[in-house]
Amino acid sequence: MDPSSKLIYEKQLYVSLSNFCNGKGLFTSQKIEQNEIIIEIIGDVVEDDLTNVHNPYALQIDFRKYIIPKNITRYINHSCDPNCKIEILNDKIVLKSIKKINEFEELTYNYNTTEYDLGVDSFRCGCKSKDCIGIVKGFKYLSLERKIKLANLILPYLKILI
Ligand SMILES: [Zn+2]
Repeated sequence: MDPSSKLIYEKQLYVSLSNFCNGKGLFTSQKIEQNEIIIEIIGDVVEDDLTNVHNPYALQIDFRKYIIPKNITRYINHSCDPNCKIEILNDKIVLKSIKKINEFEELTYNYNTTEYDLGVDSFRCGCKSKDCIGIVKGFKYLSLERKIKLANLILPYLKILI
């Protein structure tokens, strides 16, 4: 096995029915502290436009660059008030907690912090947070105020756009 594809660190996670959509979600069975690396997103990296990538699990990591998760990270749902973020750490793409998380909580991140333009894959959010954006369309469509608010959570390629 290629050592670079090994997990950095993995929490006890499981897949169950989501609290936010009609599909599955990723949950933790243990407490997680703030700023912990939870799991590495492992998958194939594809360089193309989203319309050609055609994958519901595609996670954007740069302009015209996506990772298609192969592990359970493909089940992480969006929330406008998430408990995690996606971070690029020494060429690895990881899920990191941004707050304390209790056992049996669903893990979420804000898709607007990774996706530039979801196009036809835009969707109605079911997070029910008081600051819910309604339709999740991608970073491109956020107001400047929301972009600035998300500055600490967005991927590096989006930071140049603020
Ligand atoms: Zn929402």
